[in-house]
Amino acid sequence: MHEQEQGFSTRCIHGGEQMGPDGAMHTPLYNHSTFGFPSTQAILDVVEGRASGNLYTRYGFNPTIQAAERKLAGLEGGEAALVFGSGMAAISAAFLGSCRGGDHIVCLGDVYGGTFELLQDQLPGLGIQTSFITGVDLAAVEQALTAQTRVVFFETPSNPTMQIVDIAAVAALARQRGVLSIVDNTFASPVNQSPLSLGADLVVHSATKYLGGHSDLTGGVVIGAQALLDTIWPWRKNLGQIMAPDVAFLLARSLRTLAVRVHQQNATTQAVAEFLEAHPKIDRVHYPGLPGSPGHEIARRQMRGFGGMLSFAVAGDLAATAAVVDRLRLFTIAPSLGGVESLVTQPVTTTHHGMLADERNRRGITDNLVRLSCGLEDATDLIADLRQALD
Ligand code: PLP
Repeated sequence: MHEQEQGFSTRCIHGGEQMGPDGAMHTPLYNHSTFGFPSTQAILDVVEGRASGNLYTRYGFNPTIQAAERKLAGLEGGEAALVFGSGMAAISAAFLGSCRGGDHIVCLGDVYGGTFELLQDQLPGLGIQTSFITGVDLAAVEQALTAQTRVVFFETPSNPTMQIVDIAAVAALARQRGVLSIVDNTFASPVNQSPLSLGADLVVHSATKYLGGHSDLTGGVVIGAQALLDTIWPWRKNLGQIMAPDVAFLLARSLRTLAVRVHQQNATTQAVAEFLEAHPKIDRVHYPGLPGSPGHEIARRQMRGFGGMLSFAVAGDLAATAAVVDRLRLFTIAPSLGGVESLVTQPVTTTHHGMLADERNRRGITDNLVRLSCGLEDATDLIADLRQALD
């Protein structure tokens, strides 16, 4: 059976693997920085592109790294993938490979604070300007496009207010105008959403989150057509952004359980969202799985599950909200997400600390907003923990 015809869980386990020469079950860990060749001709064939072969790990020509890339490409339904030392490395390389000085980016909705900083503070120094659109309105995207626009970038669900962007509609508009659409699929994970199949050109992930899934690795990935990745690869090579082979090995190990982990996290988070929505000390809950939530209908169309992330606003000020967070026992206060253990953060203290207060408030990232990443503990225990903290 062709790999793309296999079910998602089968691809998680078998996709991209190359058994070791001694029958090792999975692709072995090649931690080596370089590989030897039998002759000058053999190394020249690889250097000059006539043959594929292992050459130098920083280039990505390493069997452990390439196995992880094949698995990830298969999970997102893309032609190929490039792995990076972090999510920000992947995102910055995707922009650098797609844009040059004088080009323009449209950034839609809320994005991770680091991405916002990169677009607002660093890329303008290279002559790459970004227009930020607060909402997720298609008409506003259309208005923001200029003759210089090369990229439309967005997250869906977004961080931290769980805005839902209509991927198919935005990708179609971008394509019509000759603009690339790049989707950060970190929050959804490929279990719940396949942006490439909806028309997006590139998918990026912080692999630090659901793909790694255990809060014990840092990585990133860009997935899409080979021709687009060919423009990104030289940046990865010469900025030295490659993922280390031992991290790629650990990532492939984690990906084998991706489907079961995320399915469980979807179910737990739905239960937590419903509990919070009914609690009198909660002002609002942002979770696309709640029927009343603004993006619910689009999410139902484009997602297979609603994910393990939610945010909610406590009826109270910054201090009252911090008191609730501080009383939680099972949720650890930490800025990351997507691991087996549940985490909690107030975006104003971490992920969006660097954003001006006016900008935050305009985006609904208020002082009383709390973000949860639901792990794999029992849903009843997580709800009991939230109940005691709120009561
Ligand atoms: N994208 C999203 C949605 C994130 O939440 C993060 C980090 O929190 C990143 C990208 C950046 O990833 P990394 O920390 O692996 O560089």
